[in-house]
Amino acid sequence: MAKHKTLYEDCDVLVVGGGMAGTGATFEARHWGRDMKIICVEKANIDRSGAVAQGLYAINCYMGMQWGENQPEDHVRYARNDLMGMVREDLGYDMARHVDSTVHMFDEWGLPMMKNEKTGRYLREGKWQIMIHGESYKPIVAEAAKKSADKIYNRIMITHLLMDEAKENRVGGAVGFNMRTGDFHVFRAKTVIVAAGGASHIFKPRAVGEGMGRTWYAPWSNGSAYALPIAVGAKMTQMENRIVLCRFKDGYGPVGAYFLHLKTYTQNANGENYEKKWYDQTKELVGEYIDHHPTPTCLRNHAFIQETIAGGGPIHMVTTEAFQDPHLETVGWENFLGMTVGQAVVWASQNIDPKYTNPELTTSEPYVMGSHATCSGAWVSGPEDLSPPEYFWGYNRMLTIEGLFGAGDTVGGSAHKFSSGSFTEGRLAAKAAVKYIQDQKAEGIKVTDKQCDDFKEAIFKPLETYTVAQNEITGGTVSPSYISPIQGLQRLQRIMDEYVGGIATNYMTNGNMLKRGLELLAWLEEDLEKVGAEDLHQLMRAWELKHRALTSQCVTEHTMFREETRWPGYYYRGDHMKLDDDNWHCLTVSRRDPKTGKFTLEKVPVYHIVDENEKKKAS
Ligand SMILES: Cc1cc2nc3c(=O)[nH]c(=O)nc-3n(C[C@H](O)[C@H](O)[C@H](O)COP(=O)(O)OP(=O)(O)OC[C@H]3O[C@@H](n4cnc5c(N)ncnc54)[C@H](O)[C@@H]3O)c2cc1C
Repeated sequence: MAKHKTLYEDCDVLVVGGGMAGTGATFEARHWGRDMKIICVEKANIDRSGAVAQGLYAINCYMGMQWGENQPEDHVRYARNDLMGMVREDLGYDMARHVDSTVHMFDEWGLPMMKNEKTGRYLREGKWQIMIHGESYKPIVAEAAKKSADKIYNRIMITHLLMDEAKENRVGGAVGFNMRTGDFHVFRAKTVIVAAGGASHIFKPRAVGEGMGRTWYAPWSNGSAYALPIAVGAKMTQMENRIVLCRFKDGYGPVGAYFLHLKTYTQNANGENYEKKWYDQTKELVGEYIDHHPTPTCLRNHAFIQETIAGGGPIHMVTTEAFQDPHLETVGWENFLGMTVGQAVVWASQNIDPKYTNPELTTSEPYVMGSHATCSGAWVSGPEDLSPPEYFWGYNRMLTIEGLFGAGDTVGGSAHKFSSGSFTEGRLAAKAAVKYIQDQKAEGIKVTDKQCDDFKEAIFKPLETYTVAQNEITGGTVSPSYISPIQGLQRLQRIMDEYVGGIATNYMTNGNMLKRGLELLAWLEEDLEKVGAEDLHQLMRAWELKHRALTSQCVTEHTMFREETRWPGYYYRGDHMKLDDDNWHCLTVSRRDPKTGKFTLEKVPVYHIVDENEKKKAS
C-alpha cells in the first residue's frame, strides 16, 4: 500500500462526475457559495466525458416559455404519459420551470444554436427539442465548470463515499484513485453531489466479440451514480424501469431527428405499418394507455418487438422519400456527424445510402438511466414549494443520506431531463447543497484515518490479488485464484440478460427467473472479492464492474418487487403480463442495509400534482 501515495483534500462541495449534471452543479455552487471550496472529480476528462462526450445535435428539453411555446405543466404531463404514469411530478416541474434559463446560458456561452429563419426563435425539431450544432457542447459546459471550481480533478475514479463518524446517516466525502498515477485520493467534504451518469453494460449487449463496446449508451457509464449511494444505504426508486432504445442497427444512430424533422417512418419487411397490427393486443395488456398521445415510448418498442418475434422483421426506417430533398438529406447526415459518426461509418461499410436503401432499425439491450425516457435512480427530496410531505425532507435533491445530493441520471422519478435538464438539476442540487452548509448542517463531521485506510486497502486489493497469483498460470487468462474484470463483466451480463429481461429472452422475465438471477448475482458478488487487476486501467475496470454488479442487484430486486408489466417494450413479467393500476399505480422504493447487504422494498404513492392543483383551482 505504501507505493500508493495518499493525498487529502478538504472542501465544502464535492461534485462526483463532471458530465452534464456535474458541470451544472459545479457552476451553480460557485454562484451561491462565493467563498466556498468547490471540487469536481471526474473519471475521464471533463472536456469530453459522459454521455455528451461526442456532442449532440439537439437539446431535448426546452420549454420556450418566453414565446409561450410550452409550460412546465405540459412537460410534466408529457413525462407522466411517457412513463405510464410513474414520475415524481414535483421534480419534473421543478426542472422544467428552470430549464430555459440553462439553455439561454448555453447560447450566451457560444453554443451554436440553430434558428428558425422566419420567427427568429430556436429551431424546433419537435415539441421539446431544439436543434444545435453541438459538436462542442461538452467543452463549452466544461469551461463554465473549470472557471467555477477551485479545482477539477480528472482521471480519478470515485469508488466509495465516506460517512461521518460523528453523526449517523451523514456523508463525509468520497475516496478514489488516480488511474494514471495510482495515487489514493481522500476528499473530505461537507456535501457531496453525485452526478456520475447511468449504467450501460449491465445487460449483455447485442454487439459482442468484434463489436464489443458498440452500444447505444456510453460504455464508460458504469452505474457509479447508483452503486455509491446504494452502498451507504440511500433509498432508490424505480430501478426496475430500465430503458430499451429503438435505434439504427449496429451504429445505434439516433432516430429523433429522423422521425421529428425528416418525417421518416417505420415499416416491417413487407412494407406494412406494423404498429397498427399490435393495437388490440397492446390494449389487452395496458388498457387505455395505448390510446394516449404521443404513444408512450415503451409501447412503440412493444409493437417492434412483437412484430420481430412474429417474423415480420427486419424493421426499416423509410428514408428513401425524405432523402430526395437535398436539404433533408444534408440534415440526415449531419445529425450523425454531430453526435454518432459511427453510424455513418456502419452504413458506408454495409453499402447503405439512405437515399436509395431504407436502413434497418433494432431495439437495444436495456440500460439504467434517470434522465432519458426512463427514471431509475435515487429517492430524493423535492423542492419545498411543490413537494408533498412524503417527498420533502429539507433540501432539494438531497438523498436519504444527509448532505448527499444527486442530479442527472443519479436522480430517480424525473424522466425526460436530457442534457439541459440534467445540467439544470445539477444547478438545483448545488444551490441546495450550499444552503445546507450555510444552515450549519455540516458542522462537526468526523472522518477518521481508519475509515480512509480501510478503503485504501479495499481499492488496491485487485492489484495485490493479481500480483500474488499471476505466476500460477503460465499462459492464457484462466486462473485458479482470480477472475479478470472482463470475465466478471461477461458473467454479470449473462445473468442479467438471461434472468432479468435482456435480449436473450426478448426482454421477458418472471419471479422464478429473478429469484435465480439474484442467487447468481450473490455468488458473483462473492467471487468479485477475488477480481484481479494487472494494471491501473484494469483496476478501474474492476471497480466499474463492482459498481455495475451492485446496481444490477438493485435492478433485479426492484423487478422482482413490481408484480406487473408496467412498461411492455422495456421488459415483461411473464407471470404478471398486464399493467395493474389497482395494485401498482405507485412508485417503488428500496434500501439496501449496508451491514447485511439485504434489500427491503416498499410502495410509495405517486402524486399527480399538476392536475390535482388544477382541479383545486377550478373548484
Ligand atoms: C446516446 C445518447 C444520446 C443522447 N442524446 C441526447 C440528445 O440528443 N439531446 C439531449 O438533450 N440529451 C441527450 N442525451 C441525454 C444526455 O446525454 C443525458 O441526459 C445527460 O448527459 C445526463 O447527465 P449526467 O451528468 O447525469 O450524466 P453524464 O453526462 O453521462 O455524466 C456522468 C459523468 O460522471 C463521470 N463518472 C462516472 N463514474 C464516475 C466515478 N466513479 N468517479 C468519477 N466520475 C465518474 C463520467 O465520466 C461522466 O463524465 C443522450 C444520452 C445518450 C446516452
